[in-house]
This record gives sequence, structure tokens and C-alpha cells, in this order.
Amino acid sequence: MKKAFVTKPQVEEIVKKYPTPFHIYDEKGIRENAKALKEAFSWNKGYKEFFAVKATPNPFLINILREYGCGTDCSSMTELMLSDAMGIRGEDIMYSSNDTPAEEFIYAAKLGATINLDDITHIDFLEKNLGYIPKRMSCRYNPGGTFSISNSIMDNPGDAKYGFTTEQLFEGFKILKSKGVEEFGIHAFLASNTVTNEYYPTLARILFETAVKLKNETGADIRFINLSGGIGIPYRPEEEPNDIRIIGEGVRKVYEEVLVPAGMGDVAIYTELGRFMMGPYGHLITRAIHEKHTHKEYIGVDACAANLMRPAMYGAYHHITVLGKEDAPKDHIYDVTGSLCENNDKFAIDRELPKIDIGDYLAIHDTGAHGFAMGYNYNGRLWSSELLLKEDGNVELIRRAQTPKDYFATFDCFDIFDRFNFKEG
Ligand SMILES: *Cc1c(COP(=O)(O)O)cnc(C)c1O
Repeated sequence: MKKAFVTKPQVEEIVKKYPTPFHIYDEKGIRENAKALKEAFSWNKGYKEFFAVKATPNPFLINILREYGCGTDCSSMTELMLSDAMGIRGEDIMYSSNDTPAEEFIYAAKLGATINLDDITHIDFLEKNLGYIPKRMSCRYNPGGTFSISNSIMDNPGDAKYGFTTEQLFEGFKILKSKGVEEFGIHAFLASNTVTNEYYPTLARILFETAVKLKNETGADIRFINLSGGIGIPYRPEEEPNDIRIIGEGVRKVYEEVLVPAGMGDVAIYTELGRFMMGPYGHLITRAIHEKHTHKEYIGVDACAANLMRPAMYGAYHHITVLGKEDAPKDHIYDVTGSLCENNDKFAIDRELPKIDIGDYLAIHDTGAHGFAMGYNYNGRLWSSELLLKEDGNVELIRRAQTPKDYFATFDCFDIFDRFNFKEG
């Protein structure tokens, strides 16, 4: 059973200060999970998690992860700027981008970030724009085909836009070495949101075996292997959560089997987890404001897909708890909708839930990663606030809600507030 980390009385207190909708994050859960991850890979001396900033780009949350030794994984200018502003620099930043603008490579290099190239043509592009190739470089590998774990297909790397082919990887390492690169890394992201303890160990074997061949054939000094993101979370109540200790131990076994005998027992393991670090520790809290009885039973809430896009975009399941009715029978079937003029703006379709009354608070689960971050402003809907439920039970505002003034800010070149006599929001 999935349980919300906030209760109805807590939310009734919070809304006196911060109206719904809002995303709220659970500090205790974030800390316990970050600690467990660190321990699971403590067998590897150089281990480091680079939190995928895109999942939850909030400096207050990233700061918590830093206490557990995490760096940042960035893929855009503003993600780099956020790291820079937080004092995260140098090898604490992994720059894993694709289709990268030149100025972002320049900025990443200036910060001393480790650049993880997405394509062999980026070697020349980087050299042309930087005027040099950094001494420490990484390449993203895409073996193509399908990626399977014990005969079941997990994902289709052959259809993915990312990474070097096998031939390009070997060629790229030779070119980089000839251009003076001294420290090498390899990276791959072959399946997303995996809910199996086998993903990392299976990926690790592919990367470790490739690393041994790369070392033997190119003489490259491979310093790190980056398993990237992809460890999933159980969005559905019937799913079994990953056990990070088993995952860490699984990677250790393959490391002992493949890298150690090849004389590569000092290679650092890196991860770039996003979803796993934050996903379960966020809820979108929203209030039921309408009920509608037509061809179906609808509950209209005050959040919409602009606050959480995953259900509309991927048909993703997000569990819903009606706060205060945790133990009530789920004897109603609802579509829970937002207000966008888009029929896919539904947080749940044909969902069995307790009877919902106007004014009830709904906790939409697992919004801590790829939740607020994917927000957009369609229909002029504004971003919600983000709150942190601290370990001591207090609630801290960690991002205010967007206002109409923010929404209209890019018209500031016209001074529209003056010109059209708008009231500033
Ligand atoms: C999105 C992304 C991640 C994080 O993925 P999760 O599924 O959130 O763990 C890590 N690395 C790269 C390069 C990514 O694009």
C-alpha cells in the first residue's frame, strides 16, 4: 500500500500559508535514500552520484544531496548556471548533454566540468569552439539494438538519438588520446525507469567489458564508468521497489569479475540518478473544486498538467491518496482532471477511489522527479510553489508560485503593465 507522507491535518495547516496546488518534498525520505545509495556503493573508492538536475532543479533540494557527496549532472546552460551559483564546480559537475550549443561547452569547460560527449563529431566541434580539448573527457556509448534483461526487452537503444556506436567509441577514444586527453570515462543510459535490481548490473557488464577492450586497444587510461540514470521507482502500488543495496552489490560482483582481473580495480563508478533520488519524496497536493456527472464521473482539481505533465504526456500512472480518507473503501470510479483545454489533462482515468467531496485534498504521489520540472505555461496556467517538509515537521517555502507578472515578464521589453494598464500580479 502506498502511503502519503503528509496527513490531512498537516495540509490544512499548510494551506493557511501556501494555497494549493503545491509540490511538497519530504526531507527525511530524501536523506534516508541518499544515505542508502552512498552506502550501497561504498565498496568503490571513487564512487560519486551526480544528481540529474533536470529531474528536480531546486537548489534547496540539491543542497541536501550535497551533504551525501553528490555532484550535479547538467545538460543545459541554466543547469550549469545553477550548479555554478551553488558553488558546485570542477569534477563535481558532469556535463552530459546532446545536440549541445557551443556556448554551453565553453561554459562547462570554464567551470572545469567533466564533459561527456554525445557524438564523435563533437570532438571537432569542441576543439574548434574551445581552442583545445580538456585533459579529462567522457564519451556516451550506445550499443544499438535492443536492451534486454533475462530475455525481456527493456528498451530500444537502436532507436535512441544518444551516444556513439561501438566503432565510433573506439575511434573517438583514439582521436581524443591523440589530442592529449589523459583521463577517460564512459557513460551509457540504456533503459529508463527500470523497476528491477538487474538493470545496473546488466549495464555494468556491458560497460565494463567495453572498457577493458577500449583500454587494451587504445591504451586509454579509463578513470571512471558512469552508469547514468534509469533506476526507477514503483509508481504503481503493486510494484516492488528497487533495493539499492542489492543493486550496489550486483555491480560490485561484476566489477570484481570483469574489471579487477583486467587490472582496472581502481576505476571509479559514477551514477547520474534523478528519479530514484527524488521521485518518491514529492507529492503534488491539490484540492477538489468541482464534480461533474456526465458520461463519466469527473473530479476537477485545482492543479493541471502544467504542474505535472507525466500522465498527459506518457499516460503515466501516479497514485492518488484522498487525504483523510486513507482507510475508506475505494468504491467510486473517477477521472481526476485538471483545467487545461486538452482532454489528456487527466491525473487519473477510471481510478477506483473513495468518494471525493468538494474541498478534499488529494496527494498525487511520486512527483519529486520529472514533476514540477516539466511544468509549462499552456493556457496561461502558472507554476505552483514548491515546499519542503523538514525533518522537524516544519514547512519551508523553497520556490514561490509563479505570478501573472512572471508569466508576462518576457513582454518587459514593451512595458505591458504600463501600456495596457495591467495590474501587476
Ligand atoms: C535524464 C537523465 C538522467 C536521469 O535519469 P533518471 O531516469 O531520472 O534517473 C541521467 N543522465 C542523463 C544524461 C539524463 O539525460
